Amino acid sequence: MSSADGGRVRPGFRHGGGTVKGFVHKDQFPRPNLNDSLEGEIQAFLTDEDQLHTYDDLTKVNPVTPTTVLKCLQARYNARVFYTHAGCTLVALNPFQPIPDLYSVDVMKEYHCAPQPQELKPHIFIVAEEAYRNVQGQLEPVNQSLVVSGESGAGKTWTSRCLMKYYATVAASSSVVKSQDIVGRIERRVLDSNPIMEAFGNACTLRNNNSSRFGKYIQLQLDRYLQLLVGASVQTYLLEKTRVACQPANERNFHIYYQMIKGATDEQRKDWKMPCGQHFVWLPNAEKTVEEDCFHETVEAMVHLGINAERQREIFRILAGILQLGNVNFSPSTDESQPCNLEEQSKGNTFELLFSIPTEELQLALRVRTLKAGKQSVLKPCSQTECSMRRDCLAKVIYAQLFEWLVAFINNSICADKSMWCNFIGILDVYGFECFQLNNLEQLCINYANEKLQQHFVAHYLRAQQEEYVSEGLQWSFVKYQDNQSCLDLIEGSTVSVFSLLNEESRLNRASDCKMFRVRLEKELCDNVNISWDKFSKVPHFTVAHYAGKVNYQIQGMVEKNKDPVPPELNSLLQKSDNSLLHQIFTDKETDNMTSKGLSKVTVVSKFKNSLESLMKILHTTTPHYTRCIKPNHDCKPLTFKKEEVIMQLEACGIVETIHISAAGFPISSMHGLKLKNDWLLGVSTCFIVLAAVRSWLVRKQVQRWNRAATVIQDTWRKWKVMQLSTLQEPVTVR
Ligand code: ATP
Ligand code: MG
Repeated sequence: MSSADGGRVRPGFRHGGGTVKGFVHKDQFPRPNLNDSLEGEIQAFLTDEDQLHTYDDLTKVNPVTPTTVLKCLQARYNARVFYTHAGCTLVALNPFQPIPDLYSVDVMKEYHCAPQPQELKPHIFIVAEEAYRNVQGQLEPVNQSLVVSGESGAGKTWTSRCLMKYYATVAASSSVVKSQDIVGRIERRVLDSNPIMEAFGNACTLRNNNSSRFGKYIQLQLDRYLQLLVGASVQTYLLEKTRVACQPANERNFHIYYQMIKGATDEQRKDWKMPCGQHFVWLPNAEKTVEEDCFHETVEAMVHLGINAERQREIFRILAGILQLGNVNFSPSTDESQPCNLEEQSKGNTFELLFSIPTEELQLALRVRTLKAGKQSVLKPCSQTECSMRRDCLAKVIYAQLFEWLVAFINNSICADKSMWCNFIGILDVYGFECFQLNNLEQLCINYANEKLQQHFVAHYLRAQQEEYVSEGLQWSFVKYQDNQSCLDLIEGSTVSVFSLLNEESRLNRASDCKMFRVRLEKELCDNVNISWDKFSKVPHFTVAHYAGKVNYQIQGMVEKNKDPVPPELNSLLQKSDNSLLHQIFTDKETDNMTSKGLSKVTVVSKFKNSLESLMKILHTTTPHYTRCIKPNHDCKPLTFKKEEVIMQLEACGIVETIHISAAGFPISSMHGLKLKNDWLLGVSTCFIVLAAVRSWLVRKQVQRWNRAATVIQDTWRKWKVMQLSTLQEPVTVR
């Protein structure tokens, strides 16, 4: 056990006068000047400096300020300790290098078998085990959600994978059903969903070589009696499909393309019309090799999940067709009434062949628009720019539909029949709060999702704790906490909000929609304190005051992005493909007829809002566990801790507030840091630990009825204990 105090006297909570201090908004904490010498309270804290790395829970630091929290995390990082509790959450610092034996099966077993895992060193496996025991151990089993957040490169996907591996190990059904062969094992297939989704949904960006360009919520399904992993289902959010046709400077396309280029056999290259050395415009920075360029692993995972050789061939031919499409360029026709021409070097391009669509028809659909006038159709040649937009649109829609098909296929392969499972543990790996110099609709959606999660986090912990105090009959002064509801109303509110105005402008489909959107934002939201404008800025934008900071959103292009139109003629052409997969995914796809009635349902923000609402509904029915991943430096250098960069992330995820919330609820959430008043109470606590150990033993023996009885006893015991604890002294502060 690592602790500052050898398990007895610990630095106290910041806890005052018998009543509970509540949530304090981050604005109430001055941002520390890291270069200034530390004064007063902080100096007192620092007398303990060489012991800082032993503080395994940030609620123990005193006082709790951004500086003291930062110092503690830095000391731990330098001591190669990467996990720290922050009350009800876990902080995970990214080491940026593999740490031997930190995630081995032996370590998993150690946490799984410990009577009190929370007494072991802080680890992601404590969170995993707590969730696992919660599912089993309640009177009524409760589904659990593990929410992993943090900025790009902080380690969310890594952590999610660790969690999945943990359950695939400790809850492996193959440990019971020995007859299954290795490929047939469900836990193996669940894990194999990762390399496939990462190959198709991750890319090398400036901030992370393996950046997830989509959000993911995976539900691990546990069987009713033995709590074994019997299946899983995946829900994905907002794939960044623009990347397939447009890669930001110095970034790359999705991994799968580089895997194909580097891993294909000569035969495959021939089949994919991809000769060695051919240059692809949509494949920048191909010379850069990253760990994830592993074609073999992706194909192997596809095989395990049941994607047969013929389907694989269809998938790779579609992908190769998209790459070839990127090399197609158009030149204006000398006669304006005629469609643009294909540039000379684009002739002979094989994309039509790879898509198995008649060449003439596909080329025409890229260059000529079909307008409907009543029952009549009128053909109108597209400008050069429009042709390029249609080309990009074709690539994006095919890639996005292919990704969706893959996710559906994976779900079919790993999802257990409802009769086989009763509870689940969900793992949420979503993009963290984003703030670039210029932000677009994607960032607005991402930051909106983070606002929702933050609201859920704050409301859950405060409400839960207040309700628990009331039910225990403890004296409690109610905490008023800062809610971000007003910011959410600004973004998603049903009357007048950014989303409602955006949808309205998308529906009206006016030529000057951006200008009108801007005018309406300024006029209709002028009284809202969460939004502002810089009227003199060259780039028209609006600024939203998010819980994690202010973000400027560029107005130009937002309405068009929200419409995300797919020319109907392209859609119907894809349905004619002889590639049976392409044919299937576009026949199944609900045709977006762009009628004004249908549009409000299919805009990007409406779709995103709906899927997020479904996610929030699920989260509300589960017990959440939050893990905050922190990126110690922006250069992804191993074991390098940059204070300025870390403090911004701590602020963005509201870590200091979290510690205050957790510290406020200390009598219930933890016994750490308390100086016991009476010796007899020590004896009582020992009995409690013995009871918990017995219960834990029962859990592992899977004796459900005994377990329930033990839970009832423990519950009664806990209530009594809480009553006793309320009479205890203030925690002791080590100075
Ligand atoms: P994004 O939002 O861009 O998807 P992310 O938060 O999912 O970012 P990861 O891809 O999980 O970030 O992590 C980035 C890299 O950091 C990993 O590829 C890995 O090299 C390293 N990393 C993360 N966590 C750990 C860890 N616990 N131990 C060792 N290396 C790690
Ligand atoms: Mg990721």
